[in-house]
Amino acid sequence: MPNDAPPADWSPLAILTIDIDAVVTNWRRLSELAGGAECAAVLKADGYGLGADMLAPALADAGCRSFFVAHAREGAVLRSCLDGSGHSGARIFILHGVQEGEVPHFARHRLIPVLSTLRQVSLWRAAGAAALPAALQVDSGMNRLGLPAEAFHDLADGLAGLDVVLLLSHLACADDPDNPMNRHQLERFAAMRRRVPAIPASLANSAGIFNGADFAFDLVRPGIGLHGIDPVQRDLAENPLQSVVELQARILQIREIDPPEVVGYGAAFRAAQRTRLATVSVGYADGYLRALSGRSFGAVGGVKVPLAGRVSMDMLTFDISGLPAGAVQEGDFLELAGPTISIGELARHGGTIGYEILTRLGSRFARRYRKGGDVVENEPSSSHPTVMADVNQ
Ligand SMILES: *Cc1c(COP(=O)(O)O)cnc(C)c1O
Repeated sequence: MPNDAPPADWSPLAILTIDIDAVVTNWRRLSELAGGAECAAVLKADGYGLGADMLAPALADAGCRSFFVAHAREGAVLRSCLDGSGHSGARIFILHGVQEGEVPHFARHRLIPVLSTLRQVSLWRAAGAAALPAALQVDSGMNRLGLPAEAFHDLADGLAGLDVVLLLSHLACADDPDNPMNRHQLERFAAMRRRVPAIPASLANSAGIFNGADFAFDLVRPGIGLHGIDPVQRDLAENPLQSVVELQARILQIREIDPPEVVGYGAAFRAAQRTRLATVSVGYADGYLRALSGRSFGAVGGVKVPLAGRVSMDMLTFDISGLPAGAVQEGDFLELAGPTISIGELARHGGTIGYEILTRLGSRFARRYRKGGDVVENEPSSSHPTVMADVNQ
């Protein structure tokens, strides 16, 4: 494959720009909000699709010492990235725990499993890993993953032989701070924590940090907030975090149509008057949800332009009649998300959440990372053959 890679001077048809400085600023802000608690970073799913290999070293440079991913393989990739950037002391937690036969990989890549079942606990012990650090996840009411309270209380009597460095649980409704479920889970978690008071505890994800100081415990685990998406349900304008992602698509064609001409698949848009159209090079194959058909906007120079008709696999057409004449030309870029249209707004138009938009952004964009005034190009880390080869050993 590397020989087939396009030369760097091919013109990109879409650009995804990720502001690493803004990610670091958001991490610092969340860290402040968490008071004295350690602020970790959750970089599962390749840093929510934005590139864990680019974000982790910058966060570690800023002082982040603990990282969370979901799969052990993600952890191994992250380990070589952190080691390679001079951060070999950083801790990497594996949220989905450990499976049969994997303990040597955990030892070799210095990964800390989050043990969530008695089976995982005995597997870890049986493999003689008792001397290696592990975390325990308890269930405080979400009933997704974690030891139920009774199982935890039984285990708590016999923790000898396990080096438990973190006790954690996860909130189900933290995005809605008025939901009584939050306090209910807090109380259940605090009760379990009292059984093992010497072990550092962690409950809050990004939204949990906004629920109040008593949710912070010893360590907080923000993911989405790092990427500038407001984790709490409120007015989009009240987002206290800094925008990170900008998505631009190149205009392939500009044309004018008159009624009764139509646009796109299903002829779903019909011109009501003379209409100027711009077709750009992004579609649902790039993660621009098809559910956004007829419901979203692009923007040029801060002016929003509505989507005309359906989202195709590789193309979108916008009604740019509202722009001043000559505002854009074929070959220019149009904003799909960025300063005018936040990822949060895009998610609302599509009936989903920012997490889903970010994690679906595909691999066809030219990726640009902004850091300290510089712009670096980088491909998604899944296409780094050297790192993946190392993990396969
Ligand atoms: C994904 C995840 C997080 C991070 O959640 P955000 O809402 O993205 O901040 C924290 N803890 C656990 C267990 C998770 O699965």
